[in-house]
Amino acid sequence: MKLSRPAAAWVRSARTLRIGARVLAARVGRQAVPPSVTFILTHRCNFRCAYCDIPAAAAAELTAAEWCQVLDELAAHGLARASFSGGEALLRDDAIDVIAHAHGLGLQTSLNTNGWFTAPTLDRLARHLDLLVLSVDGPRAVHDDLRRRPGSFDRVVEAIEQARGLGLAVATITVLTPHNLEVVEPVLELAARLGFFAYFQPAHADCFDRAPGLAAGLDARVLRDVATRLRAARRTGLPVGASPGYLDRLERAPHFSRCEDCAAGRWFATVMPDGTCVPCHLTSQQRAWPNGRALGFAHALATLPRPLVGAGCAISPYVESDLLFGLDPRAIASAVLRLRGAPVPMPPHG
Ligand code: SF4
Repeated sequence: MKLSRPAAAWVRSARTLRIGARVLAARVGRQAVPPSVTFILTHRCNFRCAYCDIPAAAAAELTAAEWCQVLDELAAHGLARASFSGGEALLRDDAIDVIAHAHGLGLQTSLNTNGWFTAPTLDRLARHLDLLVLSVDGPRAVHDDLRRRPGSFDRVVEAIEQARGLGLAVATITVLTPHNLEVVEPVLELAARLGFFAYFQPAHADCFDRAPGLAAGLDARVLRDVATRLRAARRTGLPVGASPGYLDRLERAPHFSRCEDCAAGRWFATVMPDGTCVPCHLTSQQRAWPNGRALGFAHALATLPRPLVGAGCAISPYVESDLLFGLDPRAIASAVLRLRGAPVPMPPHG
């Protein structure tokens, strides 16, 4: 069903305000379970992107029935936002059933996907999603090369157009490597034309361990330049997703922040495909983390140990969550701006 723009914005606002209430409850100590959790349904993927080692970690996965039980349990303990990711989550035939279950519980839902399987399922997905997050690594040639899949860019654009036509909010994440640093402006032009907010983040050397640092060739000078260009693009009206606080952190590379101070594990957390509960996937190698199957997910997440010492990261959703749940006023202002809906599509510049 297609909602009108004001109705869709109202529904998004109501769910987001609910998260705000849950965060405040968590901050005054009345709730122990993080209000926002990312559920990684699978590490399997149909792509083998140049910068990603996630598919090599594919192993045991909870069944759809188990994921639904997890959602029931966490919703009863104050979960407000469920983000679904992979690997490629839509490789699972039952992914939409799980997302629909979360939405039916009143949770704010989002899905990160590479867009390959999105178009045939979007009518159904749109009924259960508050936000669709697609990977866009550049214009067609760059994207298809980094994703090692001809035709993948065209499928993403098709998915964006279809989603926007259904009134679904869309955001994209562009993973920056030394081979696609020039795509920032073209992706923002695409975002302005199709009506979505574009986020950018640097590739890490190891997707499960922040200790090895950023991908080779990404250094402080390079990321300061990216931050400067994103600020300049925002001044011209292009739909930069990052909040000012994210750009500040990007400029501090490679010491973005302090993992031990991060809200990961407290106000947001991640559940791996086998039920292991971690603050974030970049800390998943730091220690033996609890598994919710053994302990119960509410207990495992409520008693999650803090991340060990680390120099932070520039993973876009994590940093924005850290800033937002840390009550950074500029991150809150950016979130409020998002509540007003997607950017209005503009004709191409020039
Ligand atoms: S800053 Fe937070 S989200 Fe990023 S690696 Fe450290 S603990 Fe994880």
